[in-house]
Amino acid sequence: MKQKINSKLPKVGTTIFTTIGKMAKEHNAVNLSQGFPDFNADPTLLALVQEAISDGHNQYAPMQGLYSLREIIAEKIQSLYGHSYHPESEITITASATQGIFTAISAFVEPRDEVILFKPAYDCYEPAVELCGGIVVPIQLEGTEFKMDWQALKNAIGPRTKMLIINTPHNPTGTILSGADMLQLQAILRDTNIVVVSDEVYEHLVYDGQAHESVAKYQDLAARSILCASFGKTFHVTGWKMGYCAAPQNLMAEFRKIHQYVVFCVNHPMQHGVAQYLKTPEHYLGLHQFYQQKRDYFLSAIQNSRFKFKPCSGTYFQILDYPDITNEPDVAFAERLIKEYRLASIPISVFNLNNEDNKQLRFCFAKTEETLDKAAEILNKI
Ligand code: GLN
Repeated sequence: MKQKINSKLPKVGTTIFTTIGKMAKEHNAVNLSQGFPDFNADPTLLALVQEAISDGHNQYAPMQGLYSLREIIAEKIQSLYGHSYHPESEITITASATQGIFTAISAFVEPRDEVILFKPAYDCYEPAVELCGGIVVPIQLEGTEFKMDWQALKNAIGPRTKMLIINTPHNPTGTILSGADMLQLQAILRDTNIVVVSDEVYEHLVYDGQAHESVAKYQDLAARSILCASFGKTFHVTGWKMGYCAAPQNLMAEFRKIHQYVVFCVNHPMQHGVAQYLKTPEHYLGLHQFYQQKRDYFLSAIQNSRFKFKPCSGTYFQILDYPDITNEPDVAFAERLIKEYRLASIPISVFNLNNEDNKQLRFCFAKTEETLDKAAEILNKI
């Protein structure tokens, strides 16, 4: 008898990052699709982790994460955003921000609860909500510049709204929420019980003198939020799959009930390495200059191409608009770019409500100048 399986996620296929990544490899394409650097991390960080391995920190770490790492994270948040999280009860080290986000959603969303999020949305949020039996209430950001509509948020909030997911700097659009946006958000949520999941993995990648507006800067938001952060993105080590969540004690207690049975704990020697490395704030404070230079290098190399763009405000992703080039849907165009031109990018429609196609592709510029030159040469020919 053939075993009958009921899919819990019948509409979910394989993530775009895997399908495009595979295609990029097959066609030996210059890969500006999935977001990861093509250069190595700081040798100092690598040496610290190697040292931790040699020193024998190779058994389980504490379930909540290494205390010294949580302590230094608390100091970092305090100095950057002015909010104090207690390392003992309010910070947990996670096996990537993706795990932190999944765990945060699982900890609070019950069947038929509504979860509001903005589209285009990074692709790990919705499946997690659906697995919990929750209902996604999407709000599409407007136009090709992704304007935020706070009235739409007010309209979307109802008695069943359990959670709101925000993401600043925003993947895939490269936009950021301003201080005024955060105040709006704080005011809208004031008399509700809504829990906020705040995906801030690109917190150090904000450009042109603008500031990152963490939920931790806003007292009422901080009190209802789970802040999710990533060491992979910050220290050019996406393969380490390490991040953390910070939240007030009442939320973090629920979070840990799930966390302890999802991963129990996170890679121990890397926690030692990162804890040491974080003691020097220069290791992350200059990142925005480093990546802004890459953004500007890439954009100046393609300024005479037929692609249109508005320089991103944050993240290491740049959206390029191509309505002057072709009418092809973005998925088809992205595939053709890989096969015919050997350049891989990510189509935006897959993150949009009803796969709305505004003829936009996302390019990752966390690459060496040599890689960016190769990509620009191709883009200039199209
Ligand atoms: N965050 C990465 C990106 O947006 C993808 C990570 C992943 O594939 N899970 O490109």
